[in-house]
Amino acid sequence: ETPLLGVRDLRVQFDAPAGTVRAVDGISFTVEAGRTLGLVGESGSGKSVTSLAVMGLHRRARVSGSIALAGRELLGLSDQQLSRVRGRRMAMVFQDPLSALHPAYTVGEQIAEAHRRHFGAGRRAAHRQAVDMLGEVGIPEPARRAGEFPHQFSGGMRQRAVIAMALSCEPDLLIADEPTTALDVTVQAQILELIARLQEQRRLGVLMITHDLGVVARVAHEVLVMYGGRAAEQAPVDDLFRQPAHPYTRGLLDSLPRLDDPDDAPLRAIPGSPPSLAAPIPGCPFAPRCSRAAGADAGVRARCAGERPEPVGHGTGRLVACHLPLLPSGTSGSGAPLTA
Ligand code: SF4
Ligand code: MG
Repeated sequence: ETPLLGVRDLRVQFDAPAGTVRAVDGISFTVEAGRTLGLVGESGSGKSVTSLAVMGLHRRARVSGSIALAGRELLGLSDQQLSRVRGRRMAMVFQDPLSALHPAYTVGEQIAEAHRRHFGAGRRAAHRQAVDMLGEVGIPEPARRAGEFPHQFSGGMRQRAVIAMALSCEPDLLIADEPTTALDVTVQAQILELIARLQEQRRLGVLMITHDLGVVARVAHEVLVMYGGRAAEQAPVDDLFRQPAHPYTRGLLDSLPRLDDPDDAPLRAIPGSPPSLAAPIPGCPFAPRCSRAAGADAGVRARCAGERPEPVGHGTGRLVACHLPLLPSGTSGSGAPLTA
């Protein structure tokens, strides 16, 4: 069956003074209608570049592989074709809602304008729809608030307004890049609940980009952990949290504050920093930081340094790109590619 979004062997490269930057170096995933794929990684892992490539917003990059929306290939479409697909079938919500809102127009005007652009609705119908959408995303007194300007909204209300604008085009796919990072925890929880509710009502496929595993645990059905522009591990969310199989995933989980005993939980951040992507990485991009490799025998260490680990199936729906995964023996299998 054709997935809502199917990404195959995606590569995104930029030319930089230091050389060719391989920001995304061959990743594959799918997002199904009504499901959320959490795309996790540190900054520089390639997760935001991946989302921009899917939206066709990467102007100066070389993008190859395949990005198919409901079976239709998006790579190679003209700007005009792509902007039609973008407005109508997919929408994006960013970390900073102000970047998506124009300061000089009322919130209602901007949502109505997005609706008019995509559906050619009349002014009054579009305005009514904008007020309805503001109500649907939980903005109180939506008819009055529609007449206000972005600076009159709190951060959380602005993000609701941006989500309303995104949904006013009735997309099938919502791409959310750190949508709650700038918000305090209470508002963050409300926005995540809102996205989950709208997803259920509209069968939206959601690609949720975040560095925050807490966000992933809350909203994702499946998870793709990126490192150095590659997929480290992909798994259903419960499996990933119960038993991380890639040493990097394990490191991320170990660095989470423990909810049961916050005082006794110093953050154990992974020592070291992500690799430069300006030169090809022959082996595992995580090798310089990997304590598992450091404790392994010379043969394994040589493979980690010199041979790129490809994603291998383990059990159901799990793929791990590691020469020495943290899995009990006997779990290795053919593993169908991850589906979200
Ligand atoms: Fe660590 Fe080697 Fe696995 Fe990379 S392939 S994560 S270096 S054990
Ligand atoms: Mg980012």
